[in-house]
Amino acid sequence: MLRYFNFNSEFRSMNVKKLLKLNLKRRNKHKVMAVGYALSIAFAFVLSITNNNNVSASVSKKDTFDYMLLENSIQNGINDPETIYPESSIENIKSLYEIVNYGSREKTVEQEIEVSSGDTFLSILSDLGMDYDEAHDIFVKLKKVYDPTSLKIGQKIAITTTIDSKENKLLSLDNITIMPSLGQRYIVEKTADTGYTVRSEKDELLEEVNSARGEISGTLAASMQKKGVPHRVIANFINIFSYSVDFRRDVRKGDSFEIIYENQITPDGQTVKSGNILYASLTLRKDKIALYRFKDKAGNVDYYNEKGLAMKKTLDRKPLSFRQARISSPFGRRRHPILKDIRVHWGVDYAAPKGTKVFAGGDGVIQMARYNGGYGNFIKIRHNSEYSTAYGHMWKFAKGIRPGVRVKRGQVIGYVGSTGRSTGPHLHYEVIRNGKRVNPRTIKAAAGENLKGKNLDAFRRQVAMLRETHKNMFAAADNAKLASAEK
Ligand SMILES: [Zn+2]
Repeated sequence: MLRYFNFNSEFRSMNVKKLLKLNLKRRNKHKVMAVGYALSIAFAFVLSITNNNNVSASVSKKDTFDYMLLENSIQNGINDPETIYPESSIENIKSLYEIVNYGSREKTVEQEIEVSSGDTFLSILSDLGMDYDEAHDIFVKLKKVYDPTSLKIGQKIAITTTIDSKENKLLSLDNITIMPSLGQRYIVEKTADTGYTVRSEKDELLEEVNSARGEISGTLAASMQKKGVPHRVIANFINIFSYSVDFRRDVRKGDSFEIIYENQITPDGQTVKSGNILYASLTLRKDKIALYRFKDKAGNVDYYNEKGLAMKKTLDRKPLSFRQARISSPFGRRRHPILKDIRVHWGVDYAAPKGTKVFAGGDGVIQMARYNGGYGNFIKIRHNSEYSTAYGHMWKFAKGIRPGVRVKRGQVIGYVGSTGRSTGPHLHYEVIRNGKRVNPRTIKAAAGENLKGKNLDAFRRQVAMLRETHKNMFAAADNAKLASAEK
């Protein structure tokens, strides 16, 4: 190669002149540009020769071929560029020059674009420098597998482009990958014939069942998180118990939880959807609330205790063993039977014989159980962060009913009487929602139905299987119970 250092100046000037002519003839460009252009070609020689390694590394086969043509022509003394070069060779030599000087101008850029407010699929492509027709072509093709208008703010799109790094101009869009959810991909790819193909890919998801148990210190959520329970599962867990537990007040240090939940994971181990809770339990002081998920024959999903009793999600409208008890005084404005003036009656009165059992209207914690002025013997139960119920004029309380005790829906808390400001035996029942007394008659009826017959059989089998496959967890829980009993 060294010999080309000595190529004569006559050849060089000849080449430049001829190229100049050729350039003017073909492109009709400005003379000055042509001179610079021709000079750069000559310069490319020098550089490519002195810097040969670089050239071979980045020059394509086509460029090498033209370069060899040029080399041969020099050796053979042919000086006319028009005979030396085929049609496109000037462009090739120009790019060769640039490769030598700057490395390849074509750069592959992989980027991740986050969809922000106001973005559309088309505006994203247009921002990359793509013209409308081409972008629209991609849009139409993509729409067959994925609706590009369903992009959400914050969603990420992986895009691979080839750009002219010198002019920062888009040369081609090579790949767009949209991942609306883990494991699901929509891919637009440029094909050799400059068209685009669109396809969707979905990882085969694996079901995984996880379990966790632990003691609560700090918040329940933090304690569960410490045991690796995903956020969504924690939220579901709290949701399941939210009808019967006031998480701010009822849960304290030393209480514990157990959970068995399903996960869907991608083959590379990423969690796609942390889903159904199969089993959940909360032990709040001495009381354990344990619930199993079950889908009945009709397809309804609900949570049941071990006996197949549905977790009641609403409050009882008439919490009495005497189900035919009639309303002796409704909720709202009325003339007071004793005080004889018009005032609001903040509850519902159910007339019932003295000694009729009064039930807890829902799962909860006894907040108050004492004589309370006009209310007589009075009980208040806090069910959750939203609801409480109150019971007045009772004859007496059931055994063990005192503040702090957890009660279940339907559990006997006391007996109908006529204590306080009362004209005869009846239950005065109040439902308090967010601190305001509301009409108990307007509360929705309990949704959950207890399991019976074939459903109950299937439920029992499912519970037995779950306890068998997770016997380590259940055994550990039983051991912990024994240990605390021994204390
Ligand atoms: Zn009343």
